[in-house]
Amino acid sequence: MKIISSKYTYIDGEYKKNVAVAFDKKIEKIATLDELKAEFPNAQLITYPNNSVLYPGFINPHVHLEFSANRATLKYGDFMSWLYSVIENREELVSKLNKDLIKEKADEMLKSGVTTFGAISSYGAELEVCAKLEQRVIFFNEVIGSNPAAIDALFNDFKNRVAESIELKSDTLIPAIAIHSPYSVHPFLIREVLNIAKSQNLITTAHFLESQAEREWLENSSGDFLEFFKNFSNTTTAVTTIEEFLNAFKNIPTLFTHAVQVKENEIETINKNGHSVIHCPRSNRLLGCGRAPIEHIDRVLLGTDGLSSNYSLNILEEMRAALTIHFQADLNKLATRLIESVTTTASNALNLKIGKIKPKYWADFAIFTLPDDLKYEDKGSLALHTILNCESADSVYIGGRELRVKN
Ligand SMILES: [Zn+2]
Repeated sequence: MKIISSKYTYIDGEYKKNVAVAFDKKIEKIATLDELKAEFPNAQLITYPNNSVLYPGFINPHVHLEFSANRATLKYGDFMSWLYSVIENREELVSKLNKDLIKEKADEMLKSGVTTFGAISSYGAELEVCAKLEQRVIFFNEVIGSNPAAIDALFNDFKNRVAESIELKSDTLIPAIAIHSPYSVHPFLIREVLNIAKSQNLITTAHFLESQAEREWLENSSGDFLEFFKNFSNTTTAVTTIEEFLNAFKNIPTLFTHAVQVKENEIETINKNGHSVIHCPRSNRLLGCGRAPIEHIDRVLLGTDGLSSNYSLNILEEMRAALTIHFQADLNKLATRLIESVTTTASNALNLKIGKIKPKYWADFAIFTLPDDLKYEDKGSLALHTILNCESADSVYIGGRELRVKN
C-alpha cells in the first residue's frame, strides 16, 4: 500500500485540501493523511508538498498514431486540400511508423499527464506496440468503405483486426471500434459493425460532421466532396444522410469526434441519446473546419487528434488552444470544463474505472506543480493555472506504479 498526498487533490470536480489517497493497483481510500497513516501504518508515504495538484491521469480519447511521422508533409488550412494530401502521402507516412516512433509519441502524451489514450487504427499495425505500453490504450479498430462491392472484404478485414485486439485484451489494452465517418462507411457496414459493438460491449467512436464539405455532401450530394467521390469511388450520391447516420447509433452511446458543423437538432439528438463529443480544437483550426459549438453540447471530451492534423500530442497545449479558440466563453468556467473533459467527463463516457480519484478506480494519477502559491483557491483559478502554467506532469502513476516522465 502507498499513500500519496499533495496540496490539492482533484476529487468530484473539486480541489480538496488536506486529503490523501491510499492505493495499491487501485485506489483504496481517500481520507486525511493522519487517518490513512493510522489505518495503513506500513504504507509507503509519497508527499508532494509545494503547490502540487494531484489529478486522476488525463484521458486523450482520439489520436491517430499511424500518422505520427507527419511534420510538414500534409497540407493544412483547408479540409479538402488536406484530405487530398493525406491520400497522396498516406502510404509513405504509414511506412515510416515504427516501434520507437509510437513509443516516443506515447511518451509525449504521458509527459502531459495522459495515462489513457484512444488510438484510432485503420490497419492494426500499431496494435502490438500499444499492447506492450504501460499507458492504457483504448484500441479503436476503424472500419471504412462506402462502395457496396468492396464491403465484404473490408468487413472481414475489420473483423480480423477486432479479433486480434480482443486476443491482446488486458487491463491496459481495451479493444474498441471506430466507424470512420458518415460519408465513408456504407449504412449496411455501419449496422453490422454496431451489432458487433453491442454484442461484445465495445466502446464506439465515429468522426462526425468535421467539415462544411461533409455537411454539404450528406445533405445535397454536392460541394467539394462531389468531385472527390467522382474521382475515387465513381459515385455522385452520398451513401447516407445525417439523420439516418445518427439514427443508427440510437441505442449505443457513442463518442462523436469533431461535430464542428452540427446544427441545433443534431446537438439535441447527441445530448438526448447519451452521446459525447470528442473536441479536437487544434485539428479543427488547422484543417479550416471552424469552431465546434461545445457550449451547447452536454458531454465534451478533449482530444489532440493525430499528428496528421496537429503539431503535438500534448493535451495541456490542446487545452491552452481551446481557451483561445473559444474566446467568447467565460475563461474560468471553460478552464474548469476542460479539466473535466480529460477526467470526469471522459470517465463517464468511456464507462471505465479511470479518470476519477475514487475508491475501486485504477490508481492512475498525474501530479502537477503550480509555479507559485495561489492567492485565489477557487476551482476556476486552479484549473486555469494548471492549464496555463504547467508544461508537463511532475510524476505519473498507472495502476499504482510510478512511471518516469522524461523531461
Ligand atoms: Zn480523427
